[in-house]
Amino acid sequence: MNSPRSSSDPRQVYVIGAGVVGLSAAVQLLRRGLSVTVIEESEPGSGASYGNSGMLGANTAIPTYRPGMIWKVPGWLADPLGPLTVKARYLPRALPWLWQYLKAGTRAQVFHASQALRTLHRSTLEGWRDNIGGSAMDRLTRRDGQIYLWEGLNEPPTRSLEDEVRSHLGIESEILGVDQIRQYFPGISRDISHGLFIPGNGHTVDPKGLVNALSERFQQEGGVLVRERVVKLWRDDRGRWSLMTNLNNHHGDLVILAAGAWSARLLSTLDVKIPLESERGYHVMLRNPSIRLNMPILNKTRYFGLNSMSEGLRVSGTVEIAGLEAPPTLKRAKILVTQAKRLFPALTFDEEVYWMGHRPSTPDGLPVIGPIPGQPNLFGCFGHGHSGLTAAPASGQLLAELICGEKPTIDPEPFAASRFLR
Ligand SMILES: Cc1cc2nc3c(=O)[nH]c(=O)nc-3n(C[C@H](O)[C@H](O)[C@H](O)COP(=O)(O)OP(=O)(O)OC[C@H]3O[C@@H](n4cnc5c(N)ncnc54)[C@H](O)[C@@H]3O)c2cc1C
Repeated sequence: MNSPRSSSDPRQVYVIGAGVVGLSAAVQLLRRGLSVTVIEESEPGSGASYGNSGMLGANTAIPTYRPGMIWKVPGWLADPLGPLTVKARYLPRALPWLWQYLKAGTRAQVFHASQALRTLHRSTLEGWRDNIGGSAMDRLTRRDGQIYLWEGLNEPPTRSLEDEVRSHLGIESEILGVDQIRQYFPGISRDISHGLFIPGNGHTVDPKGLVNALSERFQQEGGVLVRERVVKLWRDDRGRWSLMTNLNNHHGDLVILAAGAWSARLLSTLDVKIPLESERGYHVMLRNPSIRLNMPILNKTRYFGLNSMSEGLRVSGTVEIAGLEAPPTLKRAKILVTQAKRLFPALTFDEEVYWMGHRPSTPDGLPVIGPIPGQPNLFGCFGHGHSGLTAAPASGQLLAELICGEKPTIDPEPFAASRFLR
């Protein structure tokens, strides 16, 4: 149990979830003089924040849906190496979310979401530096840009909607010929026909190291981290929040829900329904690989990424809709090995280590950042889908500004929870 508080105590905030998002918000709140405790059921950064591709996409700002995507879905589902799979047993539960997601694929919505994501992404490298400090940043991240690759395209990739979005947002890119691609990546498959260089993007060589640095910084600056699982939250008669965990009860003035893909489940105990689905993603870490990439690759034809990290070559991607409970499908992770060998036919390595995690995804591709309507002093910071590593610093800052009554540095409107609760 917490000790009694005097009225001069700073406001006590509880943050549920120590992924990149929860910890980024926690650090920002702490620096504004609030007393912050993060409750995490496992180790910090053991959710999606552990296993991502490590891309810090300062100059990437586009949701995953596109106009006409609905017509591609049957082909993807039928292709054993395809980027998307839906577990048949889970389909009835996922249908409302999937339907909303596919409906979002309009040109207008793509532009709206991209504009909003741009505000969260563009300052990611500066935000991470501010949050974890210069020496951790220099050790754990690089700012070398990123390369998108395509196979067998007839048209150059700069005639796509993505290119329109980039030019609308003022994002630079540089089209690459096959010879240039080969210079960057000797030994790359001859199937690769087009490339695009995105300057200004960064990456981490150690996603877990990045979360650890953030968690250490938070605790060094006076934050408290407890290892418990929140099972219920409610407001008491005096308007304070109570949190029941597997081990304890906590009482605070403010609660931030930053439990990644598990956030909607906790909210539903308050009868608040926000559409949030786990887009299960996989990676395989290839230890001691025969190649080292000088910058990360995104294969846009087959939807997977490669990033050389401290522990080896991480190949990641795929979307599996199967909920939070189903065990990992090893086949999905093995597909990534096939894809990597197809891209670099001479690739060898010593060992492969598989991982599956839950991207916390809303159907409109934008996170929830801000107050939860009808629940005074309860705030959400979740739903960052495919780009939470990138968006975490600005999300945490925006949330802290909203809580502390500061003028927000970015427009909070696109991220309001109320868009789902009308
Ligand atoms: C394969 C893959 C590749 C990706 N690649 C990239 C990329 O290159 N760049 C990028 O920007 N993003 C990427 N992402 C997305 C990014 O990883 C996520 O958006 C981000 O990690 C989400 O962070 P989070 O803190 O919201 O969630 P999480 O990291 O999942 O953290 C949530 C935490 O809440 C805790 N928790 C849950 N329930 C409770 C409870 N009841 N009580 C206490 N604790 C609880 C969990 O244990 C977990 O630690 C990728 C994701 C995947 C899966």
